[in-house]
Amino acid sequence: MIELDSTHDPALQSWVTNANNHPDFPIQNLPLGVFAPLNGERRAGVAIGDHILDLAACAVHGLLAGDALRAAQAAQGGTLNALLALGARPRRALRLALVGILARGSAAEPQAEALLHDAGACTLHLPALIGDYTDFYAGLHHAMAVGKLFRPDAPLLPNYKYVPIGYHGRASSVVPSGVPFRRPSGQRKPAGQAEPDFGPCRNLDYELELGIWIGPGNEPGAPIPIGSACEHIAGFCLLNDWSARDVQAWEYQPLGPFLGKSFATTISPWIVTPEALAPFRIAQAARPEGDPRPLPYLWDDADQQAGALNLVLEVLLLTPRMREAGDEPHRLSRGNARDAYWTVSQLVAHHSSNGCNLRPGDLFGSGTLSGPTPDSLGSLLELTESGRKPLALPNGETRRFLEDGDEILFRARAEAPGAASIGFGSCRAVVLPN
Ligand code: MN
Repeated sequence: MIELDSTHDPALQSWVTNANNHPDFPIQNLPLGVFAPLNGERRAGVAIGDHILDLAACAVHGLLAGDALRAAQAAQGGTLNALLALGARPRRALRLALVGILARGSAAEPQAEALLHDAGACTLHLPALIGDYTDFYAGLHHAMAVGKLFRPDAPLLPNYKYVPIGYHGRASSVVPSGVPFRRPSGQRKPAGQAEPDFGPCRNLDYELELGIWIGPGNEPGAPIPIGSACEHIAGFCLLNDWSARDVQAWEYQPLGPFLGKSFATTISPWIVTPEALAPFRIAQAARPEGDPRPLPYLWDDADQQAGALNLVLEVLLLTPRMREAGDEPHRLSRGNARDAYWTVSQLVAHHSSNGCNLRPGDLFGSGTLSGPTPDSLGSLLELTESGRKPLALPNGETRRFLEDGDEILFRARAEAPGAASIGFGSCRAVVLPN
């Protein structure tokens, strides 16, 4: 697992003063992304406070050398795929070099300051060309809660505790935070209606998930062993797996891997690296008494000891009425990534176990990360029991599912004793009318 080094020092400060104690992007984070300044081309950058440092420009201006230079040079052409493909060593070298550039007292400050952009004036794009997107179902509490709605007597199918369940999602409709999407149409068949009809989704929902970026891939027919799976993970983001529950329920239960899901997926645009998250690694929770031990190809002692992430995840709702009144978004739930039943390495090992080749820039969704308590449920399906118990909002409004103009916002926060806290940035989108 990843050793902590000087880049994790909580006392480290940046000459970019708004980065110090920044909720998401202090100097200990340094997530990678693709941005475009006003009227400028897409380019690779690193988030520091409310600013973005232009990576390619750092290379051109001689601020980087060796592996760090190689990493920055790979991040050309408006996607990070080639950088992700390089794996951990150049990525770490880049992190170390960037801390050297951005730390208070750095001799590079005068040069680097000219290569900073105000993040608020830039457009954030998808950080990589996503070849394939796979959505898992690793949240046990979510699987239980959803299973209960559909099959009260047998909420979990017998394979759940053996197989990391997933389905192949749609890469073309993955969009970065801030891009609104249109309410989907589809076949709907409410209970009591004999035949389905076609029209706008009535039960539009979100799913709170962790996104996982694949770095180096594998050759077809060459599975990734669980012990080296972490070397294939390039980073993390927040992921909203928007779900049309009425379409989903009619087309396929309970996962709904087609039109109930494929219309939009929103991600936070910054790739938070495994190095940045190293201080927040914790042991995978012991399985409940009586649960089977994972099969050997999914078991690794080191992965069990440090394969989970202690990451607080929040969902907030901003309705049009709240927006007009100037109200703050209302928090719907608060969960933690540590509640996943499978580690990220187990997802990688399982995905490739049949010989399927993963490629740099592939994206995984963890599955909805609900906790065991009512205030930690990661979808409206669970919070409102499929619309039967509407939520009451502080301004008197109620919600079964999402209405036009509603905006859903996700936030992540990693905290650990002796570490500087980091976040993931914005993952938000507004529902447009059909
Ligand atoms: Mn999902």
